[in-house]
Amino acid sequence: MTEKKVPIVERILSANDQLAEQNKARLDGAKVFAVNIMASPGAGKTSLILRTIEGLSKDWRIAVVEGDTAPVTIDSEKVEAAGVPAVQVNTGGGCHLDAVMFGDALARLSLSDLDFLIVENVGNLICPAAFKLGVHTNVLVASVTEGDDKPYKYPKMYRNVDVLLLNKIDLLPHVDFGMDYFRRGVEMLNPGLTFFPISCRTGEGIGEWTSWLAARKAR
Ligand code: MG
Ligand code: ZN
Repeated sequence: MTEKKVPIVERILSANDQLAEQNKARLDGAKVFAVNIMASPGAGKTSLILRTIEGLSKDWRIAVVEGDTAPVTIDSEKVEAAGVPAVQVNTGGGCHLDAVMFGDALARLSLSDLDFLIVENVGNLICPAAFKLGVHTNVLVASVTEGDDKPYKYPKMYRNVDVLLLNKIDLLPHVDFGMDYFRRGVEMLNPGLTFFPISCRTGEGIGEWTSWLAARKAR
């Protein structure tokens, strides 16, 4: 069984990767810098997106793609209330976004009117890491309330991202989170990974993150 299953999964992933390349080419053609935000449910993806909009929307034109497993518009409404367009992608129960869904979302946006496109992936630390979308930066939002062992338990996710944000650092005095243990795990999987400790609640570290993002786009 497993002998047959593995090649099929590999074929699906390579078809996805080809579509991801096409998505990337469309974004590059329109000079849009795309960011894929991944995290477990409740880590603070939407809060981070709202903070990022707050930090960047003065100078840049932004839109958001909201991936959700259910047809709920809770996150899209928050984004639109912050003054930027949101495109809702309903995965129909699926636990990740893929390049087809992302391509469909791109077709619903006026890319030439944008500088940044932020994607809120489905809350899940497993398969979003395996399905490329065709973005320029893959971001993982971890949070101190999830525990310090997550790099060890979800190595593939930690290995495949370009940036790690550790959210809710304002709660550090109230939780047992071993920062050294966490960072050792991250360093083992993804040496030199760009890391920002942040709090979406207090705003701490958000300026460093948005400056980094703006600098990446300029490059
Ligand atoms: Mg959300
Ligand atoms: Zn999935």
